[in-house]
Amino acid sequence: MPATQKKILIVEDNPDNRELFCAFLQSRYDTDACGTAFEALGHLGNPDTRPDLILCDIGLPVMDGVELLKEIKDQARLRRIPVIALTAFALTGDRERFLSAGFDDYISKPIMDDDALFGPIERLLSAGSTE
Ligand code: MN
Repeated sequence: MPATQKKILIVEDNPDNRELFCAFLQSRYDTDACGTAFEALGHLGNPDTRPDLILCDIGLPVMDGVELLKEIKDQARLRRIPVIALTAFALTGDRERFLSAGFDDYISKPIMDDDALFGPIERLLSAGSTE
């Protein structure tokens, strides 16, 4: 039996970024993508599409990434899914701001190399597998 691939959900409203992330992630993971927080909540509500990890853009229309995170952490069956903030903001202090909001890690766009993307993902996926 083949090893089960981990599922990753990417929530990103910019179609170019979304495609780029999918292209990177599909080499290693079972990847799903959506452009809004509402769509993401749909994926999360269905056990068949519920991911092992979420990459979440901060700047999303109507409901932003921080609000989506709050929804996720408010639900007992979702709150253990690691959520990585994905943002173009590269100001000093942002990392602390997103971690204190409850994100498990932070990746800034654009992605400069594979390690910047896969490092935090692998760390969180392996931390979760012992639970
Ligand atoms: Mn955005």
